[in-house]
Amino acid sequence: MTNQTEKTSETEINEIETLNSICRQAKAEGKLSGKNLTELYDLFGQRFTKALEALKENRVKRYTFKPSNRVVWIAVGRERDYLIMAEADFCTCDDFYFRVLDKKIHLCYHLLAQKIARNLGWFAPIEENDELYECLMNEWKKATT
Ligand SMILES: [Zn+2]
Repeated sequence: MTNQTEKTSETEINEIETLNSICRQAKAEGKLSGKNLTELYDLFGQRFTKALEALKENRVKRYTFKPSNRVVWIAVGRERDYLIMAEADFCTCDDFYFRVLDKKIHLCYHLLAQKIARNLGWFAPIEENDELYECLMNEWKKATT
């Protein structure tokens, strides 16, 4: 079975594949090694620095809504919260909107932080009731105005 992402250019595939392989290594070792850090920095530059900062400050949060078990990832930003659709590699930040859709970069630093967070367990788990789902989603989706 092939598992190809459609319509992505080679650089984008490399970016994601390298990140995934580093995440797998990090997950197995339970940490990011010095080599991993260098690789990530080479690949993502400032985006990685910002992602690491968000992780250190515990600004990546995983909401689990009960009882449905729907999961929503949030990156808490300086001015507002960003909604990360991990499955779709989508984020509500301006960086994602303007640059990722423009194909200039594939992952904003929130998505980068979320992927590292998920693999290393570096996130704040939050449980909410399903009744709050719509309300919170509306709040997070308001985003780019
Ligand atoms: Zn983002």
